[in-house]
Amino acid sequence: MKQILEIFSQGEELVTGQIVDTNAAWLSQQAVEIGFSVTRHTAVGDNKSELIALLSDIALRADCCICTGGLGPTIDDLTAQAVAEAFDAPLIFDELAYEQIAQFFSNRKRDMPESNRKQAMLPKGAERIDNGWGTAPGFSIKHNRCWFVFLPGVPVEMKNMFQQRVLPSLPHRFSLEQGTLITFKTFGAGESALQELINTIEIPSSVQLGFRASTDDVHIKLLFPSDYPKQQMLALIDDFSKRLGDFVFAIDGLGEVTGDLVFEIDKQMTTRNITLGVIETLSHGLLAAKCIGYDWLFSSSYQQSSIKSDAVMDVMSVLETMAYEYKKNCVIDYVLLQFYTGDKDCLHSKEKSVEMYVVLLTDTGLHKTRHTIAGSIQRKQNQAALLSLDLLRRYLSAKL
Ligand code: ATP
Ligand code: MG
Repeated sequence: MKQILEIFSQGEELVTGQIVDTNAAWLSQQAVEIGFSVTRHTAVGDNKSELIALLSDIALRADCCICTGGLGPTIDDLTAQAVAEAFDAPLIFDELAYEQIAQFFSNRKRDMPESNRKQAMLPKGAERIDNGWGTAPGFSIKHNRCWFVFLPGVPVEMKNMFQQRVLPSLPHRFSLEQGTLITFKTFGAGESALQELINTIEIPSSVQLGFRASTDDVHIKLLFPSDYPKQQMLALIDDFSKRLGDFVFAIDGLGEVTGDLVFEIDKQMTTRNITLGVIETLSHGLLAAKCIGYDWLFSSSYQQSSIKSDAVMDVMSVLETMAYEYKKNCVIDYVLLQFYTGDKDCLHSKEKSVEMYVVLLTDTGLHKTRHTIAGSIQRKQNQAALLSLDLLRRYLSAKL
């Protein structure tokens, strides 16, 4: 039987839609990865009777509950009071918690408002969870079937406290069957295009499929239960790899350390001892910035040189000549050049797109791509950097 975990977020801002519940999403991913079955997310506003009712219900139906928010010093922060009433565990002053809060203020040379004393009041029987990143301590308490963990709502405090103070104890408290999480890290296609590619693969119901898109890449996740036969798992991974083709730049979960696109390029460049020279236009220096700390990027320069559209026919040949010249003048192995067509108006307008041309000169000759990039100027800049780097990545993976 899988252990059931629920996530409960407290705050009026959440239920009125002023902020999005990123805490629940983050915690959920963590919990699923270590083997919990996450069955519900609930958000409740500043309403004590609602909180009490929910806490009492969760105590009967879940094995673990992680709650965030409502631990602050203000009167709208009701979590500890609701716990006290729901679990018949009156609030008790915790001397050490008080000292830690006072220390937090004195370290910042600020006077501690009297209202912060409230944060040192913990329900009877609760175990304090120290907060080294803010004022409100968290706490855990068991009631009926469920072990409750209460953490502050501020994401940075919540994440640090969860990772450092809560996560290490979970495998001891619960018999978790940790499955295998495989992540295909892809670049170059959107979620729906990727979905199309894998549409015909039959995924057993015990395997969970998930997508996570960010500005830089799209991750496709497969979560296998702990008892899933290894051979069948490898066969399914292989099937996914084949269908997704060279959109995949790394597969995480098979034992190898993986990172972002530049991290994967670094592995190849370092092993092969290759240096790179870059001239960027549309990415406006961002390509070099993405490669910060990697010494294979030998030289990089920015040129203000969009090409007028009547010269498009010649762009590639101009770029080719430039690439050979650049290589001749600098002692580098590969050259990556980028140009685009489109005026200032195209660049700044969200509705208009620009055409980007990329040339990569390597020891085996020239490799070229062309892309239409739309969206905000920041998106154009970011996509230009990533698409150019991706040409290098594809070449290095010998998939060109
Ligand atoms: P504080 O001491 O800051 O009052 P708290 O534990 O009472 O801490 P809240 O008051 O509920 O936490 O939230 C503090 C801030 O943290 C919110 O204004 C919001 O910006 C952020 N926050 C709270 N809950 C969430 C959530 N579920 N997802 C994302 N951000 C959140
Ligand atoms: Mg608060």
